[in-house]
Amino acid sequence: TERPPRKPAWIRARAQGSPEVQRLKRVLRDSHLHTVCEEAACPNLGECFGHGTATFIIMGDICTRRCPFCDVAHGRPNPLDPEEPENLARTVQAMGLRYVVITSVDRDDLRDGGAGHFVDCTVRTRALSPDIRIEVLVPDFRGRMDLALDTLEGGLPDVFNHNLETVPRLYRQARPGADYAWSLELLRAFKARHPHIPTKSGLMLGLGEEMDEVEATLKDLRDHDCEMLTLGQYLQPSRHHLPVSRFVTPEEFDHLAQVAYDLGFRQVASGPMVRSSYHADQQAAAFAQK
Ligand code: SF4
Ligand code: SF4
Repeated sequence: TERPPRKPAWIRARAQGSPEVQRLKRVLRDSHLHTVCEEAACPNLGECFGHGTATFIIMGDICTRRCPFCDVAHGRPNPLDPEEPENLARTVQAMGLRYVVITSVDRDDLRDGGAGHFVDCTVRTRALSPDIRIEVLVPDFRGRMDLALDTLEGGLPDVFNHNLETVPRLYRQARPGADYAWSLELLRAFKARHPHIPTKSGLMLGLGEEMDEVEATLKDLRDHDCEMLTLGQYLQPSRHHLPVSRFVTPEEFDHLAQVAYDLGFRQVASGPMVRSSYHADQQAAAFAQK
């Protein structure tokens, strides 16, 4: 069998031990909530927590989809926890966060795909932390877009994020159950309803995509009015997951950032360690200033 490519020097974990970071981790442990930051052992944790940013994953830890790049368990999910919105709001308040990303597993079992639960979480979090900025990173709400978008009107985010994750040719392999055109349409439809709320998407690179395919995907995003972009390196969570096809160089990430700005994206984060929520606070702030 082919050996996976070696991790280059630019893929590094950073120290994450400041007293404030330790305090936030303790608050999280008591809350029984899950963050992507901790669960995915994100290399940016120290930096993000230090800035008052974290990404929470709501609606349980079992997904109804099965993307082979993703480390989340799949199967039949548990019923929604009605206490979760309040628990999240109190935890965000206790952590003193300034920017929170709320994301979820896919809940194809729920009639609204979980949109109502996103709203409850957003509304309660804002009630307890009036100055916070909230980004939602939503699933594709496949088959129930109108209902989900209607429901989201009940508690709007400051940034609406939905990741395409990869180029259309790799969807069947990397995102079974998802649909490229549908995801693009979700971004467009949200923006059409809420022209003042920035929309955002992201791709993982290193799954086997060609550079011209990435550029075509960025163009598709712009054609659907998407304004903010993250591009990062895919890292294999374990040897049971989709292998890394290659490590994209920092220079290639810089080049793609330039391509994206030329296409009209207003904010771009592009680099090997960039994650969907990396520097989300600064990205959003820079967007607001433009
Ligand atoms: Fe958490 Fe995202 Fe920052 Fe990683 S990049 S630590 S997942 S907020
Ligand atoms: Fe993971 Fe999201 Fe795919 Fe579920 S839908 S398996 S949480 S990437």
